[in-house]
Amino acid sequence: MIVDSTNLQQEPVASKIHFHPSNNGIKLDKKQSREQQIALLKSLNLIFERNPELKIRFEKVTSFARQVRVSEYHLTNACNIRCKGCWFFEFEHDLESREVKDLNSLEKFLINERERRHINTALVIGGEPALFLDRLSLYKSVMKYVTVSSNGLQKIPYEGFEDVTIGLTLFGGGPLDDELRAIKPSGKRFNGLFEKALFNYKDDPRAGFVYAITEDGIPYIEETVRRIHENGNILNFNYYSKYDQVTPVDGMRKNALLEEALRVKKLFPNTVISHEYYIKAMLTGESHWGIFSYDECPSISVSHPAHKDRLQNGNPYLPQFNTWSADLRTVKFCCTSGHCTGCRDSQAVFSWLMVNVRHFSSSEEELQTWIEIAESYWRQFYWSPYHRYSQKNFFNM
Ligand code: SF4
Ligand code: SF4
Repeated sequence: MIVDSTNLQQEPVASKIHFHPSNNGIKLDKKQSREQQIALLKSLNLIFERNPELKIRFEKVTSFARQVRVSEYHLTNACNIRCKGCWFFEFEHDLESREVKDLNSLEKFLINERERRHINTALVIGGEPALFLDRLSLYKSVMKYVTVSSNGLQKIPYEGFEDVTIGLTLFGGGPLDDELRAIKPSGKRFNGLFEKALFNYKDDPRAGFVYAITEDGIPYIEETVRRIHENGNILNFNYYSKYDQVTPVDGMRKNALLEEALRVKKLFPNTVISHEYYIKAMLTGESHWGIFSYDECPSISVSHPAHKDRLQNGNPYLPQFNTWSADLRTVKFCCTSGHCTGCRDSQAVFSWLMVNVRHFSSSEEELQTWIEIAESYWRQFYWSPYHRYSQKNFFNM
């Protein structure tokens, strides 16, 4: 499920929709100064002395995060629909490589990832991963945690995939979703993509929607969230933006979108798991210390040669994170399109907040916000102890 928020004139486009667990932020990049680490630990300890409850929550969330070592994998270049604004097809990522279909080769590759690179968590995207369940089940058998991004048209069965997280994409809400996405590869239109996803995953604890909201879809947000709520699923907000948003009018509409997202979050606090701080950062591209950009983005493939300077600029990044093409050989630039200008990839923004605990360490309030963001992040994943239906606890992970 791949959509980009950059570079497509006129067409509405959305950030890529997927998940990747991130570094917990307490382990700073080696290149960062020792003084910086000591200062961070000092600030944290001062806060913990005043508020031991925060210390417990902080230690829980960081200890869980430390055991998740993630990379992203394109399982296939094929998809059963053609969404408008999909960066994967728009930028011809599907033509860059030939996908490996042989299961033995895939298994070897995954075992190598696990044994040599110590990856234990797979974020599986495509194309549409649900088209090839035999491949998906290999990810399931080799990796400890698996998250799959899907358009929801074809159900991933329960049997054999009991504890995977399924992120279902949704653009705009209301009639916009069909307008933008219910298009077959032949170009023929159909109706009811969202309805089909709701039907396939009714009361399915594995499934959560990644709902890309947009200025044009403000009137649909509450009703769409209500339907997800009544279907027994959770959701995270993502951003679905038009290419050119710099006019004052667009700025005003962006504010209206933010207000509406925050209002609906209040109405359905347990269904909308996105934290308020994240919603603001994702829609505006800003945090209280800076602006989201390539120089700060943590979701880059560490093995890609283009990032030599970035890896040394002192900003944290996701250790060991790579995105692999479906040929199982090519390391892609990052978790999404690689077109950084205006990128607002939802999970890259999430990771940006998560790896920057240092910017949330000057007061109890700030640290509490960071902990809440981190906890809300992990709530997305059915395999995490923070998920509302998790059977796991911190002592049996
Ligand atoms: S469902 Fe297919 S066409 Fe749509 S964003 Fe995902 S990969 Fe692209
Ligand atoms: S490197 Fe980061 S900012 Fe650039 S496209 Fe990828 S996710 Fe977006």
